[in-house]
Amino acid sequence: MPELPDIVTYLRALEPRIVGQPLEALRLASPFVLRSVDPPVREVTGKRVVGLSRLGKRIVIELEGELFVVIHLMVSGRFQWKKRGEKVPGKVGLGAFDFPTGTLLFTEASTKKRASIHLVRARAGLAAFSRGGVEPLEVDLPTFTEALLRERHTLKRALTDPRLFSGIGNAYSDEILHAARLSPVTRSDRLTPDDIARLYETTRRVLCEWTERLSKEAATEFPSKVTAFRPEMAVHGKYGAPCPVCGTAVQRIVYAENESNYCPRCQTGGKLLADRSLSRLLKDNWPKTIEELEGR
Ligand SMILES: [Zn+2]
Repeated sequence: MPELPDIVTYLRALEPRIVGQPLEALRLASPFVLRSVDPPVREVTGKRVVGLSRLGKRIVIELEGELFVVIHLMVSGRFQWKKRGEKVPGKVGLGAFDFPTGTLLFTEASTKKRASIHLVRARAGLAAFSRGGVEPLEVDLPTFTEALLRERHTLKRALTDPRLFSGIGNAYSDEILHAARLSPVTRSDRLTPDDIARLYETTRRVLCEWTERLSKEAATEFPSKVTAFRPEMAVHGKYGAPCPVCGTAVQRIVYAENESNYCPRCQTGGKLLADRSLSRLLKDNWPKTIEELEGR
């Protein structure tokens, strides 16, 4: 699922292409992708884009007249930037946003159609889409600490809970915990103040570094390879590969629909996380599905 660095990269790529432009048409290929009924599509048609923002893992396109298009990519939703009027591709195509400058295609390469568009009237209507998590790049250490300790969870769960932290999912939580040398199954209330300070700094550093890396790749072309699995990642998606810090084979722990990757030397004092750790993760009140985790 696209996380903060991926979403910010999309926003930076969209900004010069659509801000200031009128949304000439919104073509929907799938009747299910639009999850709202009011305002109707005709009301947003012709309105100029006045701003772009991120709301958790959602993308918000603000149109004049205080109208908003809220897009959730879920796991497989992606954008493509094409010439104006490009046909919506069959099978994966969800819809298209036409601008004088080009067409933004919205696709989803999955049989489970989970990605969504909501049209929203008035800024107050956006509140319904906020899960309440703090912005990791905007808060100070005390606020970060308060969010981390608000509920007693494993670190993996705490970082990826959108009610605690905004924009962090499975991929970047693996990378953050590896960089902070913390185990994914350690409980947040067991951390020392030094651990928390390190986790805070590392969270910011990892998210910033990845945002800059992805934005640099997207500086010349619209981002076309948005994926949770990147060759430069240290542990996420690297099961069995050597840890870039110590060379130990990266391990995994599988739960719900997710998999967490970690280095047993850097993060768990040489221990392999086995059944007991898995049951701790599972007992950690995990949502059964990604929809449940991300849902309203
Ligand atoms: Zn290591």
